[in-house]
Amino acid sequence: MVVELNVDVIPVWDDNYVFAVRLPESVWIIDPADFSTVDGYLKSKDLTPTTILNTHHHFDHVGGNEDFKKAYDLEIWANVNDKARIPGHTKAVTPGQSYLLDGVNIEVIDVPGHTIGHIAYFLPDHKILFAGDTLFSLGCGRLFEGTPAQMLSSLSLLKSLPSETMVYAAHEYTLANGKFAETVEPENQDLRLYLQQCQDMRALGQPTIPFNLGHQELCNPFLRTSVDRVQEFAGPLHCEIQVFGAIRRAKDSF
Ligand code: ZN
Ligand code: FE
Repeated sequence: MVVELNVDVIPVWDDNYVFAVRLPESVWIIDPADFSTVDGYLKSKDLTPTTILNTHHHFDHVGGNEDFKKAYDLEIWANVNDKARIPGHTKAVTPGQSYLLDGVNIEVIDVPGHTIGHIAYFLPDHKILFAGDTLFSLGCGRLFEGTPAQMLSSLSLLKSLPSETMVYAAHEYTLANGKFAETVEPENQDLRLYLQQCQDMRALGQPTIPFNLGHQELCNPFLRTSVDRVQEFAGPLHCEIQVFGAIRRAKDSF
């Protein structure tokens, strides 16, 4: 039997999202950026956190780890290959392996690129992906540590998940990403429609997270490096890695 769960989206600071996964007898926090905001939210709902899942070492993802550890008896998950950079970690997980937590299957996916030790958490029975800073709505993470080749292969791993998967990304970047995406593919009607919907949601103060994975293949330029129009934008290049690299650089200076 599949354990029922709900995911709450907790906005932190300007554009970070922290997620609280509520299960019958436990509560997970994905990437607690900040203790007081997240703890205040949990207290307001009478929730006690039991596990923290970290995607990567950046401060806006692990900033609350130590304070949560002091305040609660909880487990903190980190990539075994990058645990030295994850403060307070208590459990090292191995990319490529599956884990059972509170009766829920979790696949740990290796997605280097934004950082070298970045991992994503996929819940196959719920079709939920916690993508950290790897895949955003209409965009992808900056390459702080990895190469275009690494990020492209990380994104194609994520692309291979079931198309109905809902993606929980860690930042509200959709509108800015969409503006750039429109310069890459001005004629893309799926992109235009989706961006309009997202603008309406933002105008109402709603998050554009989570979003559908399969739909991103129609409108996210970083998942469309095999498409002619996207390759034209990138210029006369030879392989998808170069196309991806060119688009990523163009976005960095957009
Ligand atoms: Zn980051
Ligand atoms: Fe981040």
